[in-house]
Order: sequence, then C-alpha cells, then structure tokens
Amino acid sequence: MAREKSTLTVYVGPDELEQEMPGRFEVCGRCDGTGVTALHGIAIPADEFNGPDWDDEMREEYFAGGYDTPCTCCNGQRIVLVPDRKRATKEQLAARDENARVDAELRRDEMNERRWLGEG
Ligand SMILES: [Zn+2]
Repeated sequence: MAREKSTLTVYVGPDELEQEMPGRFEVCGRCDGTGVTALHGIAIPADEFNGPDWDDEMREEYFAGGYDTPCTCCNGQRIVLVPDRKRATKEQLAARDENARVDAELRRDEMNERRWLGEG
C-alpha cells in the first residue's frame, strides 16, 4: 500500500522540536524502484550459483524472486520520501540542514569516543 503522507518530520535542535516540511516521493535508488533486493542485496558469485550448493530448483526460485527480501531503504515501498527543496521554506531547509549537521557531529563524537575507549 502506498503511503499518502507527503510531509517529512524533522527533529530540530537539542529539544528535538518536531517540524514538518514538504516532501516528495522519489524512486528508491537502492533497489531501483523494484522494492526488493535479492538476499538483502548480496550478489551471489557465479561460481557458487553454478556450484553444488545450488540445484536447478533453487536457481529457478531465485529467478522467480523466491529469495527476494524487501528493500531495507524503502521497506519495499519502491519509493522514498525526500525533502522537497522547491516547496520547503528557507527556514525548513535550514532546520533540516542543521539537523543533518548535528547528526553528523554526534556520529563523529561517538566514533571519537569509541576510539578513545579503544573499542574501535
Ligand atoms: Zn528500495
């Protein structure tokens, strides 16, 4: 079932204030709009595919989509909601960019911390 919601919710600032902004649907780039990725997108080497681990029945099932799993990016929706930069206000875009910046910063801090603790 297609999602009808066409607004995005972004969380802004340290208080994570919810802010809605216009969004638009784009064909998912990970699965190319098919909504599925075979075996989580893991490609099977030809050697293995033609090897003893696979029989004709399994190969047939593979081609019929029996091993397909819903795309993790769009959850099988084939489309993803992205911010609509044309319809969003300057403030909304700034909020979203700020959001992305804070996110990136948090991730970096986390990585630094892990390195500091010798966990990675
Ligand atoms: Zn997808």
